[in-house]
Amino acid sequence: MILPIVAFGDAVLRKKAENITNDYKALPQLINDMFETMYNANGVGLAAPQIGLAIRLFVIDASPFAEDEKELENFKRVFINAQILDEAGEAWKFNEGCLSIPGVREDVLRKPDITITYLDENFDSKTEKFSGLAARIIQHEYDHIEGILFTDKLNPLRKRMIKGKLNDISNGKVNVDYRMRFIRK
Ligand code: ZN
Repeated sequence: MILPIVAFGDAVLRKKAENITNDYKALPQLINDMFETMYNANGVGLAAPQIGLAIRLFVIDASPFAEDEKELENFKRVFINAQILDEAGEAWKFNEGCLSIPGVREDVLRKPDITITYLDENFDSKTEKFSGLAARIIQHEYDHIEGILFTDKLNPLRKRMIKGKLNDISNGKVNVDYRMRFIRK
């Protein structure tokens, strides 16, 4: 089932999300729905707060980037209760977007190498290192479960430049070809 994606301005995007247990209600269905919602919107990652749930869950399918980085061909993962343990290397720029912030794309600086511990969809515990675009996508989604958006990371000038667009999005004044949920005023 395709779920509406929460738009910029909703308080759920600003909450630090909570860990879940393996009896979380209808978790396999929820994970399926999140993948379906993400694919429908042509995204490569989706975090639970973006569908209105303040829980530490995000899904990633980076295969659209396989042309740039071959190892991303089958990079499809579920991250539950993730904690980034380490970020290292010299920060690099990449042009990011976000399904909750349609029409806004900006260069964001992030470190290239991460170590992350998480549970997969079977609640098997994993600690892995990722780098490059895989790390980038994970860092973006991980920020969502910490209540952080990529626009928070811009310099004051860029923030001022996009302020009007962000206001429009939070007021529902945006053209988007997937279902979204806007805060009612
Ligand atoms: Zn996002």
